[in-house]
Amino acid sequence: MTRFEAERIAGLVQSDIRLMSRRCMELGGVNLGQGICDQPTPDVVKAAAKAAIDGDQSIYSKFEGIDELRRRIAGKMASYNGLPCDPDSEVLVAAGSTGAFVAAVLSFIEPGDEVILFSPFYGYHYNVLRMARPEIKSVTLRGSDWSFDPAELRAAFSSRTKAVIVNTPANPCGKVFTREELQQIGALCTEFDALAITDEIYEYILYDGREHVSMATLPGMRERTITISGFSKTYNMTGWRLGYAVAPAEFTARMGVVADLVYICPPTPLQHGVVAAFDLGPDYYEQMSADYARKRIQTMEACDAVGLTSLAPQGSYYLMVDVRGAGFETDVQAADVLMQQCGVAVIPGHSFYLDPADGRTQLRLCFAKQDHDLDRACDGIRKLASVTT
Ligand code: GLN
Repeated sequence: MTRFEAERIAGLVQSDIRLMSRRCMELGGVNLGQGICDQPTPDVVKAAAKAAIDGDQSIYSKFEGIDELRRRIAGKMASYNGLPCDPDSEVLVAAGSTGAFVAAVLSFIEPGDEVILFSPFYGYHYNVLRMARPEIKSVTLRGSDWSFDPAELRAAFSSRTKAVIVNTPANPCGKVFTREELQQIGALCTEFDALAITDEIYEYILYDGREHVSMATLPGMRERTITISGFSKTYNMTGWRLGYAVAPAEFTARMGVVADLVYICPPTPLQHGVVAAFDLGPDYYEQMSADYARKRIQTMEACDAVGLTSLAPQGSYYLMVDVRGAGFETDVQAADVLMQQCGVAVIPGHSFYLDPADGRTQLRLCFAKQDHDLDRACDGIRKLASVTT
């Protein structure tokens, strides 16, 4: 700690997710690291944003977002998530789902609280939490379906538990929490009077007929759940920074005040643009699912061919592999060789655990790429066979 460093950011550094993107840019490789999702944004959405800019929709919106967008989000929450909500008091449009998550954490979590996080976790969840300085407890997801031990989960709860973070479908492991698992977590939240903060940004990316269940729809959970999602992943617009939270009015009111203080409002013309996404028909989502299902298999096959043993993700667009079958001892070694000799950026697994040793033999790969890039990346991965022998 130096004189010019606040305690709340002590030890925080640039994430491996961002670091690998920078290295990849320098070396000119294919980036399967950061979940950038660099496929085209739907034309109707781009056209609507351009029209909003041309129409001078350029001033601040309400901090909770423009009325039309909140109305459309509420419609989607009712029809897709089974969670009817009031667009005026229960929806907060945010600067990305991360903006919503930061608003939730700053609104509800403080030193002395405990928060439960499932590992492997999305590093931004962990590090945003660290800024609020609770005690973070990890429950590890294990085995081929990344399940948790109910006894370990119960043991993680205490009278100081303020919240549990649930990311489903999960980044980085692709787990889709089942209704039964969510019920178990929800029952403990009720028993210990804790909140559930859920990140559901990959909610449309599901494989093998899996079902997305929103925690807030389970008995007793609506009044204690903050449901977070966003547009980045579903409509390929990660740089637009548009997401949202749905929660009881008393929660969104607090989070809105925080969001207002941090960034005033999400970008207004882009909010107008993304309204058009709600007019996309079921064929859009079917095509997206079919594309990701294909890319998932393509990436798994390339990995398996060189001994990077993969576990099929149940949802999301990430794949975790074990590096030992490819002759590596550590994630960092494997990531370096993949980057420098194969031209493929990936994320070392230790970034996703409280104890880095737990992820020391794992890597995360993101397959949300255009076909020509994914083809190139898979060719690069297959080169490992000649590099390591
Ligand atoms: N959610 C994406 C990932 O996990 C992007 C994160 C980021 O850029 N910080 O890679």
